[in-house]
Amino acid sequence: MGEILLHNTLTSSTERFVPLHAGEVRMYTCGPTVYDYAHIGNYRTFVFQDILRRFLKSRGLRMKHVMNLTDVDDRIIQNAAEKGISIFDYTAQYIQAFKDDMNALSCETPEHLIRATDCIEDMVALIERLEAKGMTYRSDGSIYYRIAKFPDYGKLSKIDLSGIQAGARVEVDRYEKADARDFALWKSPKPGEHFWETRIGPGRPGWHIECSAMAMKFLGDTLDIHTGGIDLAFPHHENEIAQSEAATGHPFVRYWLHAEHLIIDGEKMSKSLGNFYTLRDLLKKGHKPSTVRYLLASVPYRRQLNFTADSIQQAASSVERLRNFVARLREGKFPAGNNAAMQKRAKEAIAGFEAGLEDDLNTAVALAAIFDLVRDVNTAMDRGEFRQQDAVPVLDAMNKFDEIFAVLEDNDASKLRALGFASASEELTAEQIEALVAERQQARKQRNFKRADEIRQELADRGILLEDTRDGGIRWKKK
Ligand code: AMP
Ligand code: ZN
Repeated sequence: MGEILLHNTLTSSTERFVPLHAGEVRMYTCGPTVYDYAHIGNYRTFVFQDILRRFLKSRGLRMKHVMNLTDVDDRIIQNAAEKGISIFDYTAQYIQAFKDDMNALSCETPEHLIRATDCIEDMVALIERLEAKGMTYRSDGSIYYRIAKFPDYGKLSKIDLSGIQAGARVEVDRYEKADARDFALWKSPKPGEHFWETRIGPGRPGWHIECSAMAMKFLGDTLDIHTGGIDLAFPHHENEIAQSEAATGHPFVRYWLHAEHLIIDGEKMSKSLGNFYTLRDLLKKGHKPSTVRYLLASVPYRRQLNFTADSIQQAASSVERLRNFVARLREGKFPAGNNAAMQKRAKEAIAGFEAGLEDDLNTAVALAAIFDLVRDVNTAMDRGEFRQQDAVPVLDAMNKFDEIFAVLEDNDASKLRALGFASASEELTAEQIEALVAERQQARKQRNFKRADEIRQELADRGILLEDTRDGGIRWKKK
């Protein structure tokens, strides 16, 4: 296997990836702002980071990955106040929706998925460190970062700040700032607003300090990788660097990875433009979760992803083709023996797949290697040139592919049910339930706990709960 190359926004170049601590990757991803359902543009970025983590894991690296849940911001405070509920309760429903969506998209859960409001103390402590170093000033009970004191400001986005004059309004903001570029670390509360009473006064954290504090709390001063959508490079990530490096004196992030946008009708998909689909919108139209994952993963992350009706149809038929191919490999009857050419093709496909991903996660090249294999093997099968023993190496290649892409398992129906898309016609009969329970008992006897758990989950998704009885049997009941 070759080395892993990743494009680093900080250096504007593609670099060999070597983690700071041997065998372990410390990675941070800016998570969703949980004031509403996330849209598929957001999920483009989250699927990208999932492909990245799965690929790094497939290379034997251990992930230490943090994702924050931004559960305090202006919209959240306002929406919760309008509904007369706490921001905790308001965001709980969208945090659950995010987790459910991520599950449906087969995105692994980061090792630390944390609410920002559980780390207020860490943010306060970081602001105190910056205050002690003279990097801040106070105005009207809020605390600002003084960008003029951080000479490296702009090194990530290479943005020309000379046009942003002191006093100019770069954002609608009710706070008094010494310089338009300065940003709030801590915001004093408006009357009636949710706030925390802390050592640095009453208020709430700014968005940027949240990520610096949470990343360094779990991962230390220097992270290997930080990911996010390209729109976050400036000012959010630039501000994260300014805060973290001024506080610690160490480099904050070694590799900055940014995903390009998902666009629709030539424009960035976004809440504010109103041109968005949530995952559930697409599922309601009859698309499968695996189709959406495949579509989001198939375009290399540094290329814009143009979302069209045609692209989603193509993704559906690609997944279908791959699943049919695997079924044919598993169930087909082939002449005994092996065909050296097929064994070689399988090895080449794995090499091509790996080489694509090694090259800054070029998923398009990786996929092409797999589809070439599918085409060649199908042709060989049609011609009777494919032999029984060739199935194993080809299935190995497909498994390698699925370790990263995770679309081969035919689990869309259960994923849809888990999101509440079950239809009455899919209700199981008592006989079907008994049969699954029996299969599960059998699996347990054979110590196949993975299958046993799958069946329990499948039944749970359909509202069937299992209980152990005293005599070692199983009783089931509908929820
Ligand atoms: P937010 O919840 O707005 O903080 O966004 C969550 C993540 O989605 C961030 O990494 C954004 O950069 C990313 N994002 C937002 N819109 C898009 C889009 N249209 N395409 C790709 N990523 C996006
Ligand atoms: Zn962030």
